[in-house]
Amino acid sequence: MHELTSSDYCICGKAKKFALCCGQYLTGKQYAKTPEQLMRSRYCAYALGGYGEYLINTWHPMMSKQLAAEDLSIRQYQWIKLEVLNKKQSGDQGTVEFKAYYQDQQGVEHVLHENSFFQRIAGKWLYVGANLENKI
Ligand SMILES: [Zn+2]
Repeated sequence: MHELTSSDYCICGKAKKFALCCGQYLTGKQYAKTPEQLMRSRYCAYALGGYGEYLINTWHPMMSKQLAAEDLSIRQYQWIKLEVLNKKQSGDQGTVEFKAYYQDQQGVEHVLHENSFFQRIAGKWLYVGANLENKI
């Protein structure tokens, strides 16, 4: 796992200390209050590695059935940066459009451009999936 100390800046792109940004969600001290906060913290979970449990816990249970926390804890790529392009929230549903930049094992840069869909269930925001806005 890639450790960040409380004095480090968060890697999600916000100019905030990790402990006061995504760190508080990853450690379970707080629940993300908006889809964007959840999305950013999930990006950090992938980028840091070791947070498979968090990814499962913040995934809609219907969509995460086939997934294992151990697999999600493996840092597959070198994540470079995150750009949030757009966000929408209405009631218990929300979307976040983002670009996440990463390098694969060969060192080739890629961009993941996704419109993530989120739903709030029992007060907790959950990730449902990508590009689902018109499917639910
Ligand atoms: Zn953050």
